[in-house]
Amino acid sequence: MQLFYPDNRNVDGLEDAIKEAGGSILPEQISKHETGEWFRTMKVKRLGPSFIPAEVVVPQDRVSTIINEINEKISLLVLIEGMVSRDGEVVLLCFIPHSERSFKFNMAFSLGLSIIKIAEDNGGRMYASGLYFADQAEKVYGERLKQLMDVKKEFDPSDIMNPETFTGRGLFTSALSMAGKMEPMMRFVGNMSGVDKTEFKDQKNIPGDIISHAYTCAQCGYCVNECDQYYGRGWESQSPRGKWFFIKEYLAGRDEINQEQTDTFLACTTCELCDVRCQLDLPIENSWLRLRENLVQQRGKMTFPPFEIMAQSLNKERNIWAQYRQGRDEWVPEDLKPKIKEKADYAYFAGCTASFVEKDIAEASARMLSDAGIDFTILGKEESCCGIPMLAAGKWDVFENIMKMNVGNMKKKRCQNRNYFLSCMLVCVAYLLPTVG
Ligand code: SF4
Ligand code: SF4
Repeated sequence: MQLFYPDNRNVDGLEDAIKEAGGSILPEQISKHETGEWFRTMKVKRLGPSFIPAEVVVPQDRVSTIINEINEKISLLVLIEGMVSRDGEVVLLCFIPHSERSFKFNMAFSLGLSIIKIAEDNGGRMYASGLYFADQAEKVYGERLKQLMDVKKEFDPSDIMNPETFTGRGLFTSALSMAGKMEPMMRFVGNMSGVDKTEFKDQKNIPGDIISHAYTCAQCGYCVNECDQYYGRGWESQSPRGKWFFIKEYLAGRDEINQEQTDTFLACTTCELCDVRCQLDLPIENSWLRLRENLVQQRGKMTFPPFEIMAQSLNKERNIWAQYRQGRDEWVPEDLKPKIKEKADYAYFAGCTASFVEKDIAEASARMLSDAGIDFTILGKEESCCGIPMLAAGKWDVFENIMKMNVGNMKKKRCQNRNYFLSCMLVCVAYLLPTVG
């Protein structure tokens, strides 16, 4: 059990109580990390990729008995998170890691009922009824049920939002109710229905790890409003959540990859905000980047027209601005030319934009190096684009050629060590640095 309290709270005596109970006080760094993770409650789903959930409210003094009973009666791994409320109750969120793609998932699902039964036997109750347990709504909400139903009727007369959540869905609700009555037998079957950690294999030419991420996504939607692409286009299909959902639909044969869908992956601005916001720390932007190559290069879908123009320019003139190659070093001012070495340990890589468009950036960077007394060289007319636009375009073959060209030329100039590679363009650094040396 971990205890957190604000800095301003008087906790005299707590330290002694913790030690008496055999506990210890964690270093500040760990407690800060744990606190930071509070709002990433679903991160645990990375252990899944799917979960069988069970949420119950139980009396505080029965928590340890309930946890022991869960351990005794359920042989599959159960992850439990608890929150203590002021009125002496504890909300237990229980998750059984599983795989929804396995047939055993349906059988193991009944274990959620077993957890509810254990809670009820100990004076607890379900956290919420929902569609699955609509017949229990009265027990869960008590007197508030009528009030809740009236509000829903008033604001949602056609029952569009969470339909049938209070009334249930006929046979479906009855079947679950019956399963609850056969709990011991269902538990026996459920306990035999575990799966090992699922390794996803490539399927329909989608890489296995990307498939795994698609099934791991909790569809929580934390990434949606943050997404640049969603902000611009306004459709859920443009957001990370929508794209993970599409991948699952494609794998299940309910959707197909066409040009419109390809454009959805190409339109990502690569801002990476989703990676920061994702509850599960899924590598979202990188997954879309890899899928672009999959879609454009491997499946022959079209990339965006500006990328095609850049690729032509790159192949012919080695820059994305459709400028002549021989003009690439024209940014170098006359007075600096004698100071730039033919070969040196340090190389300054200007990049396309600083070489042809924002020349003042290249000039200022080179002057700084010179003024700092650093001997450096440049690739001059032999410098090529860093290639990153081709990564984003899905044209990884063009990227590879251009990268090899740059690295080869860098080595000819004696600059072989990644520590001695300098650029004013962050993207150039990000993509060239790992390959130099
Ligand atoms: S990287 Fe792409 S998917 Fe992620 S937030 Fe930015 S635009 Fe959206
Ligand atoms: S990708 Fe979006 S919807 Fe999926 S888990 Fe991450 S934040 Fe939630």
